[in-house]
Amino acid sequence: MGIKSIPDDASRRRRFKRRLLRWFRAHGRDLPWRRTRDPYRILVSEVMLQQTQVARVEGYWHAFLARFPTLADLARARPARVREAWAGLGYYRRAANLHRLAREVVRDRAGHLPRTVPELRALPGIGPYTAGAVASFAYELNAPAIDTNVHRVLRRVFHPRLRAGAAGMRRLDALARALVPRRGADAWITNQALMELGALVCTARVMHCDRCPVAPVCRTAASQRGASATRATARSRSRGST
Ligand code: SF4
Repeated sequence: MGIKSIPDDASRRRRFKRRLLRWFRAHGRDLPWRRTRDPYRILVSEVMLQQTQVARVEGYWHAFLARFPTLADLARARPARVREAWAGLGYYRRAANLHRLAREVVRDRAGHLPRTVPELRALPGIGPYTAGAVASFAYELNAPAIDTNVHRVLRRVFHPRLRAGAAGMRRLDALARALVPRRGADAWITNQALMELGALVCTARVMHCDRCPVAPVCRTAASQRGASATRATARSRSRGST
């Protein structure tokens, strides 16, 4: 299928999403933070995952929550204990911000993490991705959770020629928002599935188009198929002419 035969916009988005969710239901990893909707537990996982691989985070996540089971426990802890629990994960600044956040939320909000993206973003160490992730993974709000994995997947599938820069990012953000129009489990699973595809199949280093569930609607895969068909035709012509 050539790039021109891929339908555009809403219909392509629907096909993309249908294929993505079907794949995620069958192949998504059973990660512990996907089994909970507790905002504090999800927040801890997202902060840990900011600069650390999933395989390393799992053990630390369980151990950290065993020491500080609630936001209030974390808020009460001495900085040295938080540092100790984080030791080995690196980028200690994340833990310091998490600790500050816990103290602020206990002091100002009776220990309840806010639900909306703007309120979450106002907390220490919370950027747009983490705010979207907590809003959609804990509260199932229709907020996009856009990290570099998601940007990469959306760019390759929908806009491979999009220029880098703020305008391009805004376009991808709008696309991510269009993919999560509904609240509830739909927002949760769409964001999880997008990230999972970027982590397992369409990675920064390799594109596994041969086993990718969205290959039939992907513009990058279509242009690669077009390029290899052109090469094959050129090869058979040159053989014919000898
Ligand atoms: S088909 Fe290839 S380029 Fe497209 S999303 Fe899948 S792995 Fe990425």
